[in-house]
Amino acid sequence: MSYDEIVVGSGAGGAVVAARLSEDGTRSVLLLEAGPDFGSVEALPEALRDPFVTFTGADWGWTATMTGDRVLPYPRGMTLGGSTAVNAAVAMRPTPGDLDRWVQAGAPDWSLEACLPYFRRLEADPGGDPAVHGTDGPIPIRRQPRETWQPITSAFAEEMAAHGHRVTEDHNDHRMVGAGPTAHNVRDGIRWSTASAYLEPARDRANLTIRSGVLVDRLLLDGDRVVGVEAVTDEGTERFEGARVTLAAGAVATPPILLRSGIGPADALRGLDVPVVLDAPGVGQNLQDHTGVFVTAVARPGIEQDPDNYFAFYSRSEDEPWVFALLALYSPQALGSFYGDPSSDPVIAISAALGRPHSRGEVALASRDPRVQPRIDMRFLSHPQDQADVVAGARVAYRALHGAHLGPLVKEVSPVLAAIIDDDAALLAHARATCGSGFHPVGTARMGAEPGPEVVTDQEGRVFGVRGLRIADASLMPLQVSSPTNLTCIMIGERIADSLLRSSD
Ligand SMILES: Cc1cc2nc3c(=O)[nH]c(=O)nc-3n(C[C@H](O)[C@H](O)[C@H](O)COP(=O)(O)OP(=O)(O)OC[C@H]3O[C@@H](n4cnc5c(N)ncnc54)[C@H](O)[C@@H]3O)c2cc1C
Repeated sequence: MSYDEIVVGSGAGGAVVAARLSEDGTRSVLLLEAGPDFGSVEALPEALRDPFVTFTGADWGWTATMTGDRVLPYPRGMTLGGSTAVNAAVAMRPTPGDLDRWVQAGAPDWSLEACLPYFRRLEADPGGDPAVHGTDGPIPIRRQPRETWQPITSAFAEEMAAHGHRVTEDHNDHRMVGAGPTAHNVRDGIRWSTASAYLEPARDRANLTIRSGVLVDRLLLDGDRVVGVEAVTDEGTERFEGARVTLAAGAVATPPILLRSGIGPADALRGLDVPVVLDAPGVGQNLQDHTGVFVTAVARPGIEQDPDNYFAFYSRSEDEPWVFALLALYSPQALGSFYGDPSSDPVIAISAALGRPHSRGEVALASRDPRVQPRIDMRFLSHPQDQADVVAGARVAYRALHGAHLGPLVKEVSPVLAAIIDDDAALLAHARATCGSGFHPVGTARMGAEPGPEVVTDQEGRVFGVRGLRIADASLMPLQVSSPTNLTCIMIGERIADSLLRSSD
């Protein structure tokens, strides 16, 4: 059978594209996912329901190089819903400035004005201003109203206000960039992935086929037109035919599919004996992710703990490079996920992350075998601006923990940091030795209005030089955004689906 549409990957981008395309009953849609399909929310293993657990086992088991040769685990969701099924369920939009920077970077169709209808379409957020929020979309979004803020979260907001940020009640209202409570996409205590939100209501449609356990190896091409994909399944090698293919395997897995298909930097392809179909130097380049330092302190006894609220508050401004996140370590699971064994004293941490990093990494093939993980090299803190920013950001967080509002809640700030806080070189060395990833990779097949050395697709995700092939995931972003990336990826899925529905190429 030949399908009208094949979608590869069922995460933030792919689930949305498959669900939206199959709303048109005349269109046959095949969704291919490498991981398992548990069938329904009720059947999910506990780790996939609990938003406090982000190392779930439903994972590719890949690693990435952070700085130098320091390699850490790099979780990516491998199940229906992709990384949305394993993430921390922080639901945060980018700022207007983030999208302005996309416009300036050559994607003029992706202004805030153009993206806002899709952010509204994806959500059911009854707590915000309906002028900027949707109320009947698939993703349920909730945040803490001001009257429920706790002493520690209020103190963090006050401290950030003293630093110059505004206090905001709604990070997702673009008119209120500042310090405030994080919104979550959680329903009845369950992480609400795109599998639950988009695919579960769609799975009974006669025109939608969902195949799990299908590891897509490469594209099938007839000249410059894509005609399907080849994959590894329990049956061996299987071929699936389709008139159009949309890749949504995520920013570290979409480039390898292109590369194995001969679409990528020609020299790198020849080095692996992959026949070059199209020299596309941008494939796998421009990798960006969030990194930074954790500034930790032991809290005074008696700090309120709220088991439903971790990653409690964020703070950011258009004028600064940092996103500060308060992690008052409320739950043992959260502590376990991020720091190993829980200590007996409650710990407060402020993550000072680089919201709009300048360093660029790379995703490259290590082998032609699709079962072998690609090389993921983040090259964090390799850019001098990031080096200066990470040092300055650590100091802002350190000062906040000593400030008039948070200071009284703190017993002791980390002595390791206290000893080096005034020493630029030592602080940078500490950041290099300890920094990890936010697990927000973007940019590895970036879009743009014109083809260019770094640009892989047009602004509607069409791969330049290959007919019938689109991308609809985090790879498209030209630049990182100063928020966790899930909502932006779902918005991308909504926009590319809309474009696919409106056009035949
Ligand atoms: C541990 C963790 C915590 C996070 N926390 C947050 C958070 O709290 N808030 C937030 O906003 N963002 C968070 N993120 C990031 C967010 O989940 C991602 O930005 C988003 O899911 C990316 O969407 P995507 O469509 O690009 O890729 P994904 O959601 O990763 O989807 C890719 C899909 O493609 C499948 N796939 C890959 N290769 C193949 C192949 N060859 N064949 C078939 N299928 C394939 C994968 O199995 C997966 O299902 C987190 C991510 C992780 C990993």
